[in-house]
Amino acid sequence: MSKTRAVVAIASAATLAVGVATVSLTAHASPKESTEESQSQDHSTNNAPDINVDGVKHHLQKFQTIADDNGGNRAAGTSGYQASADYVAKTLDDAGFNVTRQTCGSCDNSEDENVIADWPGGETDNTIMIGGHLDSVADGPGIDDNGSGSAAVLQIALTVAENNPELKNHMRFAWWAEEELGMHGSKHYIDNTGVDDIAGYINLDMVAGTNAGYFIDNMSSPTAVAMVDHFDSIDKPAEEFTDCCSDNGPFTDAGVESTLLTTGYGESKTQEQADKWGGEAGKPYDPCYHTACDTYPDNINAQALDHMTDAAAQGLWDNASKTNRYNPVEICGQDYSIQEREAVTTESGTELGQVYMLWSNDAEQNCAVTIKTTAAGVETQTAVTLAAESGDNVSDKGAFAHYAGPVKLDAKGTCVKVDGSIAAEDGTVGTGSIPLSHCG
Ligand code: CA
Ligand code: ZN
Repeated sequence: MSKTRAVVAIASAATLAVGVATVSLTAHASPKESTEESQSQDHSTNNAPDINVDGVKHHLQKFQTIADDNGGNRAAGTSGYQASADYVAKTLDDAGFNVTRQTCGSCDNSEDENVIADWPGGETDNTIMIGGHLDSVADGPGIDDNGSGSAAVLQIALTVAENNPELKNHMRFAWWAEEELGMHGSKHYIDNTGVDDIAGYINLDMVAGTNAGYFIDNMSSPTAVAMVDHFDSIDKPAEEFTDCCSDNGPFTDAGVESTLLTTGYGESKTQEQADKWGGEAGKPYDPCYHTACDTYPDNINAQALDHMTDAAAQGLWDNASKTNRYNPVEICGQDYSIQEREAVTTESGTELGQVYMLWSNDAEQNCAVTIKTTAAGVETQTAVTLAAESGDNVSDKGAFAHYAGPVKLDAKGTCVKVDGSIAAEDGTVGTGSIPLSHCG
């Protein structure tokens, strides 16, 4: 569909009482989009299609064959790595992606390449990336680590090509070189291509552990919301993953809101986790971690792989539908969480977006309010009016000059109420409020 323009305005107005400020967020979507929304949208509009795990397994069989044909592994600097990159790039090219093979000049083996694939369409300055590392360790074929993440991202990409969904944001897929040597490929991309256009990054590393856990890194960030919800919906409630880091680490360090999905590495499952998720307590999530027995099909848990792939797709669709580029890390610090979120809905119940209040765990205070809009093809432009009883202690104008948020909250002790509205030009209006209950 054609790209249409909408205006998002964020206004902050004072005040109910001393120390209390009201933050209002307003967004306008075009009539065309809102008509489509109201005709087609229910809770499933931004839901990804089911990803066929048989397709993921097909790619894993290919990676195993590549390892078998190339000395038993797919490690950086080897013919097995090159063959893996060839397979991924050709599959994507055949499916209609714009494929870039980025030579990683700063890698240990300068012939190693990142494979980057863009699906045409969507707002490129709100690009959502999803990726995983393509190299194995030298000791084995690297099927769980990280053939699984590579294959899952590849099958999600092929599903995007098949469905060609009209989502708001541009989607970019990545297979990184030399993660096992120190995340060289992703760092090279960040240093050379840059991340100014990236609104969020989802990383998959080891998503098929035979004794699977269900872990998400940075799970209290808006980027991870849909994945958290997905695991709740299949009764596999996820836990925060605390190991640092896979390729999501360099993205987080560069200020991109990033998350990771994994079934766990070589650590052992606890009794509590076994009770919750199944599997064996006291045994590693992946007993073949970084060893020669990380093979296909023996070291694959197809059910966990299916769950993880479907969750990742939900995360991609949700972020590609809603996220506006903003920088919660810069505003809130690395350690922040969702204080509260509320849907912005029309009277008939159509969800047009969500409002969020974010909490800084470091500063122990409210740090930002933001709004996500759902309408596909919307170009947001922020008009800002700020007023607060206590002057500039509520918001930082510079922090949200171009997008629908966030409003920076930098006054400790300030109480905040959020009224969000998204208004279509045909008069359709959605509203969502976070009540005055969050002083901090
Ligand atoms: Ca599936
Ligand atoms: Zn890995």
